[in-house]
Amino acid sequence: MSRLTHSEIHMVHRIGWLRAAVLGANDGLVSTASLVVGVAAAGSAQGEILIAGLAGLVAGAMSMAAGEYVSVSSQTDAEQADLAREAKELEDTPEAELDELTGIYIGRGLDENLARQVAVQLTQKDALGAHARDELGISETVMAQPIQAAVVSAMTFAAGAVIPLIIALVTPVAQTSVFVAGTTLIGLAVLGGLGASAGGAGIVKGALRVTFWGALAMAATAAVGMIFGVAA
Ligand SMILES: [Zn+2]
Repeated sequence: MSRLTHSEIHMVHRIGWLRAAVLGANDGLVSTASLVVGVAAAGSAQGEILIAGLAGLVAGAMSMAAGEYVSVSSQTDAEQADLAREAKELEDTPEAELDELTGIYIGRGLDENLARQVAVQLTQKDALGAHARDELGISETVMAQPIQAAVVSAMTFAAGAVIPLIIALVTPVAQTSVFVAGTTLIGLAVLGGLGASAGGAGIVKGALRVTFWGALAMAATAAVGMIFGVAA
C-alpha cells in the first residue's frame, strides 16, 4: 500500500470537504433555480417568485442539514460503539490486544522486536488511542462531527441557492426564467468542473454531466409552470 505523506493526507482530507461543498452548492443551485424558473414560467409576479425561491432555499438548507446530521450522527454512534467495544477488549484480554497491535505493526513492515517495543510503549502511553488509530482507523482529527457537517452542508446549499435568487431580484420579471437558467448553467459548469477536478476526473466531462442534468431539471419545472400557469 502506497504511504501517503503528511501533506497528502491533509490534501485528501481537504478534497473530501471540497467535494462535499461542491455537491451541496450544486444541489442548492439546481433545486432553487428550477423552483424559480417554474414559478416564473407560471406567470407569477416578482414578489411571488422571490418568496417561493426563498422558501425553497430555507427548506432545502434545513433538509440537507437534517440529513447530514442524521447520517453523520449514526457514523459517530458506530465509532463510539467500536471504541467502547475496544476498551472492553483491552480490559478483558490485554495480552491478546498487545499481540494484535504488534501484528499490525509487523504487517506495516516493522521487525518483530521493534513492533513489540512500539506496541508496548504506545499501549503504556494510550492503549485505546493506539488501537483506535491503528486498528479501527479512528482518530481525533477525522472523527465525525455531526453539527459541523450539518452546518457546512446547509451553508453550501444556501451558497448555491442564493445565486438564482439574486438574479431573480435584479432582472425584470419577463426575463427572469432566461437569466436564471443562463447563469445557473454557467454556475453548474463551473461547479461540475471543480468537483470533477477535485476528484481527479475530467473537467469537461464533469461540467457537461452536471450542466445536462441541471438543464433537464429546469426544463421540467418550466414545463410544469407553463402548464399550470395557463390553467390558472
Ligand atoms: Zn484491538
